Amino acid sequence: MKIYNTLTNKKETFTPIEEGKIKMYVCGPTVYNYIHIGNARPLIVFDTVRKYFEYKNYDVKYVTNFTDVDDKIIKKANEEGVDFKEISSKYMKEFLVDSKGLDVKPATMYPKATEEIGGMIEMIKTLIEKGYAYEVNGSVYFETKKFESYGKLSNKNQEDLEAGARIAVDTEKRNPMDFVLWKPKKEGEPAWKSPWGEGRPGWHIECSVMAKKHLGDSIDIHAGGEDLIFPHHENEIAQSEAANGKQFSKYWMHNGFINVDNKKMSKSLGNFFTVREIVDEFSYDIVRFFMLNAHYRSPINFSRELIRAAANGLERIQTGRKNLNYLYEDAKMNDYTEKEIVFVNDKELEKYKHKFESAMEDDFNTADAISVIFELVKFANKNTDSDSSKEFINNIIILIDELCGILGIESKKKEGLLDEDVNKLIEKRQQARKDRDFALADEIRDELKEKGIILEDTREGVRWHRG
Ligand SMILES: [Zn+2]
Repeated sequence: MKIYNTLTNKKETFTPIEEGKIKMYVCGPTVYNYIHIGNARPLIVFDTVRKYFEYKNYDVKYVTNFTDVDDKIIKKANEEGVDFKEISSKYMKEFLVDSKGLDVKPATMYPKATEEIGGMIEMIKTLIEKGYAYEVNGSVYFETKKFESYGKLSNKNQEDLEAGARIAVDTEKRNPMDFVLWKPKKEGEPAWKSPWGEGRPGWHIECSVMAKKHLGDSIDIHAGGEDLIFPHHENEIAQSEAANGKQFSKYWMHNGFINVDNKKMSKSLGNFFTVREIVDEFSYDIVRFFMLNAHYRSPINFSRELIRAAANGLERIQTGRKNLNYLYEDAKMNDYTEKEIVFVNDKELEKYKHKFESAMEDDFNTADAISVIFELVKFANKNTDSDSSKEFINNIIILIDELCGILGIESKKKEGLLDEDVNKLIEKRQQARKDRDFALADEIRDELKEKGIILEDTREGVRWHRG
């Protein structure tokens, strides 16, 4: 299997540190809002990488963190006049709703920054002891000059970085490229006790600490969006390797950007979409299919036309799959026909499987892997009819489902809920609320949301519409 490693800038043959096992860390969200399509891409892409490894019988440990204390979370909490934890816990839950909708397998663990402060303080202490970090007025900085290979992931050298860095406004730093590990408490902000006074950790340190705690000093794959290469991942390497004295991650994988109508997605341009907004119009499985239609390292352009085209593509697979089901039910013969025996002897179906695997093993080329599924559906359309045997049709069905399953694609169209079912669930939710069982009430709301049913609590009662 070949993986493009950002650390070496080339495709490399993948060999895990320990045979049969993979330790994988994917940077998770800062939870202060619903995830946008830019966040959804690494979520889907690296889940697909994991699913493929698991299909290949690797034992995968997959860790994704929640940054649950951060400037943006605190700002939002202050604007809404609530505790920052109210904001972070709300959006952690919403993240998991979107993850489930997108068929992302739950991570082995979801460590939270606020629960790992002790470990962060320990690592910062080690970095100070080893001479890589220094304290000034309650702040602790990592001294990048001390870490010789700083810049190796992003291919930047220290001199260029320094020349490029703005003249430091805060004169606390010894060097403009130094980055913060611990910052002192500010008015109105949450803070934790530390040897350097009350304060909170910088963002980069949390990933180094969580990866170490839950996966060990050295991991196989570290992944995230390409916007994280510098400075976040560069800083993670500096912290982890300086503190642990070992290579941090053997492979670094990064997914490409998403543009909207060929423009960079940004709040100021107003072309900023949350996943929720898109699934109101389309569906989670279409979003996932759309993302996997491109190679993960290529930039993706997002537009209504393109997502509609993806929806049509997915529909083609699902229609083909449904027709096979009908044929299967009506098939009179159990055993292969003469024509089918030729296909079986030629190992025709296995050819599709091999082709699919070759695409995936060439740096997870999901675009080519999806083309193989299309070819398989085409083969099925051409070579099955009312004379086909149950056995043959069944083999094709199993293969389509297996290949779609590896990518997390729905081969069977989700049949929507009937109005009757929706009303029953809403009644059940109302009862749960009366019984003050809010956990159950929330669960029902989330379940409906996932199926595209949006609830609105109004004074006249609950109204709902299909997303
Ligand atoms: Zn990270």
